[in-house]
Amino acid sequence: MKYLILGAGPSGLTFANTLLAAGEKDFLVLEKESCAGGLCRSTDVDGSPFDIGGGHFLDVRDPSVTDYMFSFLPEDEWDRYERDSRIDLYGDIIGSPIEANIWQLPKEKQDRYLDAIASAGCNSGQDKPEKFTEWIVWKLGEAIAEDYMLPYNRKMFGKDLDSLGTYWLEKLPNVSYEETKRSCREHKAYGTQPGHALFFYPRRYGYGEAFLRMADALGSRIRYSEEAVSIDFENRTVNDTYRADRIIVTVPWTSFSEHKGLPPELESGLGDLRYSSVVTQYREEMLDTKAHWIYYPDPARPYHRILVRHNFCPGSKGYWTETNLSRFKAEEGSIHFVNEYAYPLNTIGKPEFMNRFLGFASSKGIYGCGRWGEWQHFNSDVVMRRAMDLAGRLLNDSP
Ligand SMILES: Cc1cc2nc3c(=O)[nH]c(=O)nc-3n(C[C@H](O)[C@H](O)[C@H](O)COP(=O)(O)OP(=O)(O)OC[C@H]3O[C@@H](n4cnc5c(N)ncnc54)[C@H](O)[C@@H]3O)c2cc1C
Repeated sequence: MKYLILGAGPSGLTFANTLLAAGEKDFLVLEKESCAGGLCRSTDVDGSPFDIGGGHFLDVRDPSVTDYMFSFLPEDEWDRYERDSRIDLYGDIIGSPIEANIWQLPKEKQDRYLDAIASAGCNSGQDKPEKFTEWIVWKLGEAIAEDYMLPYNRKMFGKDLDSLGTYWLEKLPNVSYEETKRSCREHKAYGTQPGHALFFYPRRYGYGEAFLRMADALGSRIRYSEEAVSIDFENRTVNDTYRADRIIVTVPWTSFSEHKGLPPELESGLGDLRYSSVVTQYREEMLDTKAHWIYYPDPARPYHRILVRHNFCPGSKGYWTETNLSRFKAEEGSIHFVNEYAYPLNTIGKPEFMNRFLGFASSKGIYGCGRWGEWQHFNSDVVMRRAMDLAGRLLNDSP
């Protein structure tokens, strides 16, 4: 065939639908699960939608992607929300991001954080450190690092934070002492809004519905319950069975048990790629909050975030938690879902390795695309845009 696409998550589905829209029908998608959607799949729990892979919302930042989503699940089937996300700082619940909302804390905590910001390395001319944990202290000051960023990141990504690079944090804005002080004086937030300041969530369904519709459009061109276990770079073959002019890999490269024709240096680099796993668990209680989600840095609680379902799924009750698998203990009868591949980790040296690896793969007609194909923390809107772009490039450049 011309194109073999591995994985029917948002990347694979968008890539395949972009081919179809351009009149290209010579392709097949292989998906190991029995349904499409990947981390964005939803199911029904207690009579309402539940997002298996954690809380999923459609960001409005790229109209070309939102319009594309609306072509499968029309706009009038979505509700639009202004983000209400909060942080539970050991009992004091404030808005997120923390630096813009310090003014909501009791006075003595405000002073502690203001002092920390004033003496943060980036505000007092100190050199930027290379180690992740030291970088966080340098950027935010000791108190915010110790109360929030470090414990929260440990809960999400694991204890060994210094195996992570700092390159992906560079976009964090500097926290200004003057602006934080003014915000505390005037009792209002300052600074740029985080991602998802506005977002869409389907009115009657979970987030996964949009992707089920994208899968429907592909009909029998998706083969379910078919796991890709080996890939041959020289012969462009998967499972020794499927051969294609081009192979699009949206599944984790580390999920193949065999990579034939891969130089040893790249094989060993693949072995260094890391990821973290997340368990989502349902709780039926109604919470007395208007927040859509709340972050929990407190190490005493196993989960790091809760999603307050009744605030974004009309007519639902309950909430769900997100917990790193290494911190999760199943209770008897609990309703929970394990997502082995949840977060690709931004370890030291990963960008350089992925550049080399993807360069080699594409020279063989094999292309990495999406969260796992590129091993990046991309959200669904970003992977969809990238899949559309890659499909457009390959269609324009037929072998
Ligand atoms: C907790 C959490 C919260 C998130 N919140 C948001 C959010 O609010 N908004 C947002 O836009 N994004 C969010 N994301 C990111 C979003 O989940 C991803 O961007 C998106 O799912 C990536 O799509 P993908 O197709 O690249 O990968 P995936 O969704 O992981 O899809 C990969 C597909 O490949 C299949 N597969 C895996 N291995 C194989 C194999 N060997 N053979 C065949 N098939 C295989 C999988 O079953 C899956 O269907 C969140 C992610 C997490 C973990």
